[in-house]
Amino acid sequence: MINDIISESIKEKKQKLAKFKRNMLYFRWTLLIFIIPAFLFGSEYVISKNSVYQIMVLTAIYNTLITLLIIFSRPERVKKEVAIVFYVDVVLICCISYILGGIQSDIFIVLLFIIAYYGISRDIASIVNITIFTITVYSVFTLGFERNRLNEFNYWRLITRDLFMLITAYAVSIVITEVKKYDEMHKREFKLARTDKLTGLANRHYFDQKLEEEALYADYARQPLNVLMFDIDNFKKFNDTYGHIWGDKLLSMFGDIVMQNIRKTDIPVRYGGEEFIVLIGDLDLEMVKSIGDRIRGQLEKQNLNMGSEHTKCKVTVSCGIAQYPTHSKDIKEVIDFADKALYYAKEIGKNIVVSYDEIGKLRETVQIDIETYLNN
Ligand code: GH3
Ligand code: MG
Ligand code: MG
Repeated sequence: MINDIISESIKEKKQKLAKFKRNMLYFRWTLLIFIIPAFLFGSEYVISKNSVYQIMVLTAIYNTLITLLIIFSRPERVKKEVAIVFYVDVVLICCISYILGGIQSDIFIVLLFIIAYYGISRDIASIVNITIFTITVYSVFTLGFERNRLNEFNYWRLITRDLFMLITAYAVSIVITEVKKYDEMHKREFKLARTDKLTGLANRHYFDQKLEEEALYADYARQPLNVLMFDIDNFKKFNDTYGHIWGDKLLSMFGDIVMQNIRKTDIPVRYGGEEFIVLIGDLDLEMVKSIGDRIRGQLEKQNLNMGSEHTKCKVTVSCGIAQYPTHSKDIKEVIDFADKALYYAKEIGKNIVVSYDEIGKLRETVQIDIETYLNN
C-alpha cells in the first residue's frame, strides 16, 4: 500500500509536468497557426506573399525544434529551458515585427501575451526581467526600421506600446502577489489546524491522521516505529498548588524539552491534557529508551521558579514505550501497549521510563512526591 502512495505521488508529479508541457505546446502552436498568420495576412504594410510563406516556414521549423526540446528535456531542466525559449520568442516576434513594417505592425500584441504567459508561472523578478528585455529589444528593432527618418518618427506611438507592456507586467504581478498571499494563508491555516496552540507540537487530530501512514512507512522501510508516551506526574496536584497558568507554563516547557531531544524526522504530539507522544522511527528499543530517559531526566533537573524565589519546585514525568511491529502488528494496539507500560511506570513509583516488555519485571521505585520539593 505504501508503494501505492509513493507511486501515486510520482504519478501526480508526472501528470503536473505533462500538463505544463501540454499547455506550453498548445500556446505555441495556437500562436503559430492562428495569431501570427492573422497578423501577417492582415498587415497593412505591403510585403510579398513569398516573404509571408518564408516567415511561416521558418517559424514552423523553429517551433518544431522548440516542441522537441520541450518534449524531450529532462523534468528538472524543463522550466529553465522553457524560460530561455521565451526570451528567444521575444526576439523572433520583434524580427517579424521588423519585417512587417516596425511600428506599422500590430504584432507587438503577441509580446503582451508572452509577458503575461511567462509571468503568470513565475515570480515578480522574472516578470521585471522579461519586460525590460522585451521593451529594449522591441524599441531597438522599431527604431532600427525607422533609422533613415528618425526625425519624422512618432515617438509617442512607440512609448505608448512600451507602456502597454509595462501595464501588462504590472497587472500580472498583481495577480501573482494575490495568488501567493492566498497560498501562504492557506498553508498557515493548514499548519495551525494541526498544531497544538500551547506547546507548538502536533495535535491529536494530526496524530490520528498520521499514525497509520507512519506504520505503513515503517513496513515499507522495514524499520521499527517506536511509540513513547509521556505523562506528567501528579499534575493535578501541581495545578491545585500553583494554579492553571503555571500548569500551562509547565506543559509548554515540557514541549520544549521534548523538541530539544528529538530529531526533525520524529513526530512529537500533545496527545491529551498532560500526555505527550513521540513517534520515533528506525531506532532500536534501547536507543529509544535512552532518549525517553534523557527527556525524563531533563524535566527532573529543572528548578522551576514559581513566581517568587522562595517557591521553587521540581516536577517529574513517566514514560511508557512500545514498538511496532515488535510488540504488535496493529499500530493502535502498540499505542495501547505504550499506555500500559506508562500505567506500570506510575504504579511502581513514577519518574521512570518503562518499555512494554518490562511490565511486571521492575521493582518498585521510591515515589517522588511533588510536595517534597516545595520550598526547596
Ligand atoms: P499521575 O501522576 O497519575 O499522572 O497523576 P496526575 O495528577 O498527573 O493525573 P490526572 O489524570 O489525575 O490529572 C491530570 C490533570 O491535568 C487534570 C487536569 O486538571 C490537568 N490538565 C489537563 N489539561 C490541562 C491543561 O491544558 N492545562 C493545565 N494547566 N492543566 C491541565
Ligand atoms: Mg494523565
Ligand atoms: Mg499525569
